[in-house]
Amino acid sequence: MHDFQYKKSGLYAEDAAVGKIVEQAGTPLYIYSHRTLLRHYKAFEEAFDGYPHVICFALKANSNLALLKLLAEEGSGADVVSGGELFFALKAGVPAEKIVYAGVGKTEEEIAYALKSRILMFNVESSDELETIDKIAGGLGVKAPIALRVNPNISASTHPYISTGLKKHKFGIPMEKALEYYCLADKLRNIKILGIHKHIGSQITKVAPFVEALKKVLALAENLKSQGIEIKYIDMGGGLGIPYNEEVSPHPKELAKAIIPLIKLYDFTLILEPGRSIVGNAGILVTKVLYLKKQHRKEFVIVDAGMNDLIRPSLYDAYHHIQPVRRNKGPLAVVDVVGPICESGDFFAKGRKLNRPQRGDLLAIMSAGAYGFSMSSNYNGRTRAAEVLVKGKDFFVIRERETYNDLIEDVKIPGFLK
Ligand SMILES: *Cc1c(COP(=O)(O)O)cnc(C)c1O
Repeated sequence: MHDFQYKKSGLYAEDAAVGKIVEQAGTPLYIYSHRTLLRHYKAFEEAFDGYPHVICFALKANSNLALLKLLAEEGSGADVVSGGELFFALKAGVPAEKIVYAGVGKTEEEIAYALKSRILMFNVESSDELETIDKIAGGLGVKAPIALRVNPNISASTHPYISTGLKKHKFGIPMEKALEYYCLADKLRNIKILGIHKHIGSQITKVAPFVEALKKVLALAENLKSQGIEIKYIDMGGGLGIPYNEEVSPHPKELAKAIIPLIKLYDFTLILEPGRSIVGNAGILVTKVLYLKKQHRKEFVIVDAGMNDLIRPSLYDAYHHIQPVRRNKGPLAVVDVVGPICESGDFFAKGRKLNRPQRGDLLAIMSAGAYGFSMSSNYNGRTRAAEVLVKGKDFFVIRERETYNDLIEDVKIPGFLK
C-alpha cells in the first residue's frame, strides 16, 4: 500500500499533484510520502506490540536525514553498516542505545567511534573482528556489547546479489562454528555478549525462511545457555519483501504471527532491521521523457534519470512499475525505458508495454524509496537528484539538487599544475 494514486488523470503524492511539485523542484526527483512511511513503520511496531522489541530501521535503504528524523521521532532505532551511517543516525536523533552496527569490514576508527557513542551492540561477522573490537574496547576502558552474526544456511529464494544467508556468502559465521566463536567471545575480557544476529537476505516474500532461521537461532541460544552464556537479544535482521510487480509480500503482522509463538517461550528482546519494507513503497522517482527513438524495430524512451539515480534495474535486473504522471491515451507500445548514461546497462525497463509517451511527459518510476537515492552516484558527471517529502497537500525539499560546483568542491589540483 502506498499514497501515490491518480486523482482524475493526474498522479498525486498524498494530496499534492506530482506535476506541480516537479514544476518547482525539477527532474529527476525523488518524492516520498510522509503518510506511507509512517504507516509502514507503525505496521512493524503494532505487529510486534505483544513482545519486547526494537525496530532498527536499516539506514542503507535510505539515509536522508529528514526521513530518519521522522522515524526517530516515532521511536525507531537504527541498523548501520558504517561510521557514516552511525553519524547520520545520531544526527537524526536516534538514541545510541537503539543502534546496532553490522558489516564485514568495520575499521578500527569506526569501531572506536561506535564504542564512544555507546551503541546497543555490534553485530560481529568474524573472529578477527571480535579480537579487534576487544582490543579497542580495552584501550578505551569499556566493554563492547556484541552479537555474533550467524549464517543459518537458508536460501531466501531471492536474487543472488541480495541473498546473504548461505554458506558461500561473505556474511556472518557458519552455524556449526557459532558455539566455538561464542566461547571465544566469552573469554575476551572487553567483550560483553548480548545477542545473536542473523540476516538472510532481502526482498524475501515468504514467512517460512524467517521461521526456519529463527528456529536455528533459538536452538543456538539454548545451546549457549547450557554453556553458561546468556543471550538477551535475538536480532532477526531485515529482508521482508515488498510488491514491486505482481509478487505478494507478507504483512509484518503475518511475520509476527509466525514468529512470536516461537519466541514467546523465552525472555528475549527481539530486534528487527527492516529497510525496504518501510521505505520502498514510500518513494517514487519522477523523470522527464527527453527523446523517443526507434531503431532495429526497437523503440526507446530516453528519460532524464539514469542508472546513477536508481541502479536497481541495472544491478539486480529489478522490476519497477513505470506510470505516466498525467494519464495518457497514446497507443500502447512496447518500449525500453533508458537513461542518458553511456552504458548499455542503463535502463529502467525493457520490453515494457506503455501508452507511448511524448517528449516532455513525466514518468513515475514506482517503489523507488529503498536502495534508490542511497545507491546513487555522480557517474557521467551527473548531479544527484533532489528529494522531496510530501505531507498532505504540502511538500518540502529534503535534499537540494546537486550543482556542477558540488561535483568539484572536494577536488584538489596539485601545485605543479598552476
Ligand atoms: C540490508 C540489511 C538490512 C535491511 O534489509 P531490507 O531487505 O532492506 O529490509 C538489515 N540488516 C542487515 C544486516 C542488512 O545488511
